[in-house]
This record gives sequence, C-alpha cells and structure tokens, in this order.
Amino acid sequence: MHADIGLGIFVALIAAKLFGVELSGQLIGLSVLFALLPDVDFLVHAIMYRKIGGKHAHIHRDLFHYPLLYCAIGGAIAALFGWLWSFVFVTASLAHFVHDSMGVGWGIKWLYPFSKNIFKALSDDKGNLSMCGSVMWNEAELQKVADEKGNEHWIRDIYFRWHPIGIVEGVLFLASLGALWFALR
Ligand SMILES: [Zn+2]
Repeated sequence: MHADIGLGIFVALIAAKLFGVELSGQLIGLSVLFALLPDVDFLVHAIMYRKIGGKHAHIHRDLFHYPLLYCAIGGAIAALFGWLWSFVFVTASLAHFVHDSMGVGWGIKWLYPFSKNIFKALSDDKGNLSMCGSVMWNEAELQKVADEKGNEHWIRDIYFRWHPIGIVEGVLFLASLGALWFALR
C-alpha cells in the first residue's frame, strides 16, 4: 500500500512537469487516490470473507484489477476533465497494476475482458521469485499454485520482517517522499 502511495506521488510529480501545472494538494491527493483505488476490492474481499490477507487474497483482484477498463475510463475522463486528469488517472492506475504484476501476489488479468489469463513478471510458474522469469496462469492453474505455495501470513512476513519485496517497497515510498520534499521546497 505504501508503495502505491509512492507511485501516486511520482505520477503527480511527472504530471506537474509534463503539463506545466502547479504541484497542488489536489494533484498529489488525487494521484495517490487513483494509485490506491484498484485495491478497494481488497476491502470488499476483507469484509465479505472477514479476513485480511491469507493465501487466497489474489481473489480480491477479481473486481477492480482490469487495466483495459481503466484505459477506457481514462478516455472518458479526457473528454470530461481534460488530458491532465486522464493522464494522472491512467498512469497512476497502470503504475498500480505494474506493481501488482511484479511484487506481492499472483499478478493480474491484463487483457480482461479478452482473456482471463493472469500475468506475472519476476516469477516462475510456481510463484517463486525469478529475476528473468514471467508467467501466465489460467484461473485453475493459479488456484492450484496458491493452494500449494501461498503464504497464509504474507502480510506479516513481507511487511513486518526483512523481506526483499518489503524493503524495495519501503525504499520506493521513502524515495517518493524525498522527491516530493525536493519539489516543494
Ligand atoms: Zn492491487
């Protein structure tokens, strides 16, 4: 989550430079909100199943984790509110999806509704970290991998222990705060 906040901050910084607009609280706030928005389905999942995390938390990505849908909405935002907000919405959302495709979890359905296959980078077909690997699972294959290899305590093990992914995400978040401080001073 903090990595998505960092990505939202970076998108706001890029948008301000690209469109020559003020780095306002509105721009930063909305960009961070857009970078977090897809994980609303994590909340829905947590309420429905009365559980936060767990080895089948990938199911939470079945409501709002569809990048092509966000590109279509971005077109509507461009028509209604202009290219700045379309850029912020689409770029912050896609940054979230890229993050979800290479960090924690089992990837996402990049081509939905045309394909239900799930793509993940930096992973082998068993879900192990692989610096040169990428994988595509169908839903049944992913269910099997999650059953076999899923970690019931991934939140604790990644974010409250010294885990490489947790460290990279923490560094990304701190770097975004540093860049924001540098831009605002
Ligand atoms: Zn997500």
